[in-house]
Amino acid sequence: MTTGNINVSVENIFPLIKKFLYSDHEIFLRELISNATDATLKLKHLTGIGEAKVDYGNPVIEVKIDKEGKKLHILDQGIGMTADEVKKYINEVAFSGAEEFLEKYKDSTKDSGIIGHFGLGFYSAFIVAKKVEIITKSYTDAPAAHWTCDGSPQFTLEEADKKDRGTEIILHIADDSTEFLEESRIRELLVKYNKFMPIPIKFGTRTETLPKPEDAKEDDPAPTKEVDNIINNTSPAWTKQPADLKEEDYKGFYRELYPMQFEEPLFHIHLNVDYPFNLTGILYFPRLTNDLNLQKDKIQLYQNQVFVTDNVEGIVPEFLTMLRGVIDSPDIPLNVSRSYLQADGNVKKISNYITRKVGDKLSSLFKDNREDFEKKWNDIKIVIEYGMLSEEKFFEKADKFALYPTVDDKFYTFEELREKIKDNQTDKDDKLVILYTSNKEEQHSYIEEARAKGYEVLLLDSPIVAHLIQKLETEKENVSFARVDAEPIDNLIKKDEEKISKLSDEEKDKLKETLTEIVPKEKYSVQLEAMDSNSAPFIITQPEFMRRMKEMNATGGGGMFGMSNMPEMYNLVVNTNSDLAAQILNTKTKAKQERLIKQSLDLARLSQGLLKGEELTSFVKRSFDMIK
Ligand code: ADP
Repeated sequence: MTTGNINVSVENIFPLIKKFLYSDHEIFLRELISNATDATLKLKHLTGIGEAKVDYGNPVIEVKIDKEGKKLHILDQGIGMTADEVKKYINEVAFSGAEEFLEKYKDSTKDSGIIGHFGLGFYSAFIVAKKVEIITKSYTDAPAAHWTCDGSPQFTLEEADKKDRGTEIILHIADDSTEFLEESRIRELLVKYNKFMPIPIKFGTRTETLPKPEDAKEDDPAPTKEVDNIINNTSPAWTKQPADLKEEDYKGFYRELYPMQFEEPLFHIHLNVDYPFNLTGILYFPRLTNDLNLQKDKIQLYQNQVFVTDNVEGIVPEFLTMLRGVIDSPDIPLNVSRSYLQADGNVKKISNYITRKVGDKLSSLFKDNREDFEKKWNDIKIVIEYGMLSEEKFFEKADKFALYPTVDDKFYTFEELREKIKDNQTDKDDKLVILYTSNKEEQHSYIEEARAKGYEVLLLDSPIVAHLIQKLETEKENVSFARVDAEPIDNLIKKDEEKISKLSDEEKDKLKETLTEIVPKEKYSVQLEAMDSNSAPFIITQPEFMRRMKEMNATGGGGMFGMSNMPEMYNLVVNTNSDLAAQILNTKTKAKQERLIKQSLDLARLSQGLLKGEELTSFVKRSFDMIK
């Protein structure tokens, strides 16, 4: 038997590691299973090239809990180690790695954001164990070795009588880590980190029901047998070639990733590059809602099929964090902080690549099946619009397939829309006027007014639409957007025929005077317009600029500071060509005039959704009284 001191410069560094990894105690199992996987894959390689003259067989990795003995066992059938190799790889390599890790992170604060605390390896066993044993038998003829270490820098190493090849790691679980002796906890970890690792992982057994024998009676129970319970799918879809997968396989894999998700994804993007960096993965477009934050943290990051994290911030561009799926890349540096990550050249390339692939996929969906793309538009637009706002390159690409739906369910690209309306919808400076609504129900009467005049009205209802419109107005030449209630339509769009007012200037002055006496000044500024006589007599408008700035402020960035505190600004537009305007003018009694104006104002407010609470109640009461 050999005893010795592990060559570490810090006396008893074991407890220290717990401090650094306090929040991530659970990663020890991932690290040990990764080692077991590596050892098995190394053997596969050596037998493959004829260097190891042993039968590779069907190796599994097994995890066993010994609750009584307070031990956790991890067994593999990989290459194993000779005593010399244990000295070298465990005493020197593993511990120098751990020391290096400590050195690097001793100054880092508790949430330095180091992804997954990778690179700690074997040493992480001491996060949860007060004593660790390795019993290992090399694939060569060398005798088995038994290494023990109790968390001090002293170890013992002696011969063991293990006959079959491979390594068994025995963790004597520390008193503060007994959660790792619970079956449910270990299962949870295996499913979280090891669900897609390449070597089968056995954890306990399960009962399998066999077919009934032919001569069985009706109520004979079906026979059962105990089989190994294998935790993982060793060849997940993303590791395969796209050509070998069918639509059903992608959907099946989605269900495997999100067993609690009942809705199917809209489409997928298979990522597969090996130069200048290595990356595989499958991204899915789920049906998205308008809540941007709820849907993040669904993409899982793997390295060689080992789960690392589901926070891919910094690796995947922000606007794509609403997608789902997996990304597997050995080229993402993991033992660095997120700010460092964002500055890393490889990571930038990866992020650009993903953006490009998503753009290409959307572009081909648009070209190959426009009808289907239009059907999906409302469920995916939030990502595309967000992307157009945040990534210039994506804007250029998406500009060709981004759709602008109308209230009549037609879908135009921007250029198609321009072509469609260029002769009919321009303002006095010949600028294109794009009318839109953010809510078909709330702005119904305004939409109807515009449609009656033959104008196209877009339905733009995403939460970031104010930002997008602002961007389009700067990106595109000679274009302005106006919500249908921004101004009377005839003021927004130039018409050749001149407006003729039925009222004389004198009458108009008088009308305005009467109106301003009654309409509350602090809320509405009164504006007279000679509109079509069948247009609404009273309408309330909300100037585009102010409203949009307020909206941009509310959804973050881009707006002007302090705008959200500004009061709402409304105009009361009175159509001087309407019969009602004439009637108000010609009404002799003040009381009756006031009643007409108040009722008309309330109707206009009702149409704009501004009549609420007490005012609505008294309006309804007043209206009933009137028709009695
Ligand atoms: P890393 O895996 O990053 O090299 P580790 O500290 O995890 O670092 O392990 C150090 C070395 O110990 C490994 O490179 C490997 O040679 C050896 N080793 C660890 N676990 C096993 C195992 N289960 N079977 C065979 N060798 C192992």
